Amino acid sequence: MQKLISIIIPFLNERDSLPLLYQRMQNILNGRDEAFSFIFVDDGSTDESANWVAMQAKIDSRVRLLQLSRNFGHQIAITAGLDHADGDAAVIMDADLQDPPEVIPELLAEWYKGVEVVYAVRRTRKGEPFFKRLFAAAFYRFFSHVTRLNVPVDAGDFRLLDHTVVHALRQVHELHRYMRGLTSWVGFRQGAVYYDRGSRLKGETKYPLWRSIKLAFDGLTSFTGDPLRWVSYFGCGISLLGILWLASILWGKIMHPDASVAGWTSIIAALLITSGVQLITLGLLGQYVSRTYEESKKRPLYFVRQ
Ligand code: UDP
Ligand code: MG
Repeated sequence: MQKLISIIIPFLNERDSLPLLYQRMQNILNGRDEAFSFIFVDDGSTDESANWVAMQAKIDSRVRLLQLSRNFGHQIAITAGLDHADGDAAVIMDADLQDPPEVIPELLAEWYKGVEVVYAVRRTRKGEPFFKRLFAAAFYRFFSHVTRLNVPVDAGDFRLLDHTVVHALRQVHELHRYMRGLTSWVGFRQGAVYYDRGSRLKGETKYPLWRSIKLAFDGLTSFTGDPLRWVSYFGCGISLLGILWLASILWGKIMHPDASVAGWTSIIAALLITSGVQLITLGLLGQYVSRTYEESKKRPLYFVRQ
């Protein structure tokens, strides 16, 4: 029986990229045995992107426009796409051609071998700022280590999911979602193919470094409470230092009762350090509490206009 593959493309203001992407996909996918449906998820674009998709949908019945009511963020847009993907497998890819459509046949080949989650792992990344690459490389390794999740290092959201995995993911309702972590967390047979990541052809990145850091923090906090433990250890360390310092001062007083101790600098330093540690801890705790609060509201993740 012919397989149906849903290609999910979340986009935000990618008017210049979408026609190029569509064309490249046609070049590669036309003539294959599978049937394809292209689900373009409009994450609140303010340019002409959605119009282009709507127009294309009139010409090509495989093209579908899923328009969210506003910008909900990349991870939610992916989720919306998955909720509307009815194929035997779904492929998630960026709209800016950084995820080359040429890799899709390779993803499919792994899928036919029985792999249910096929990651497209970046062998190289071109045209991204040094700090973003450095941060990404460090974070992926750190994340795998602390969450003990087998998250492939250097895989973005570009991947193929079998429909059983798509159904599993639909049962996950959390608001602060990190899809890269969740697709590992659900289990199933996982595998990877490798590709060289090019630079963005048109338009600008919607993920500057600070947004990447925010996504990373979301990922970390939604998979582990360990940071709370780390700050406790840190607090213990600082207290221990304080005690040792006090002991050394007392010892000095006993040995040299007449010597004067320089007070002001050390008091202010100790005060700043301890209050800093307290504020960091409190802030971190606050992050977890506010996330708990937001999740407890159980609001829908997104709304669909059309
Ligand atoms: N994107 C989105 N919603 C957002 C931000 C980005 O749907 O709020 C889309 C964007 O249009 C692109 C993909 O997510 O298709 C990845 O974004 P981008 O290429 O800007 O990130 P980068 O590759 O620079 O990390
Ligand atoms: Mg990109």
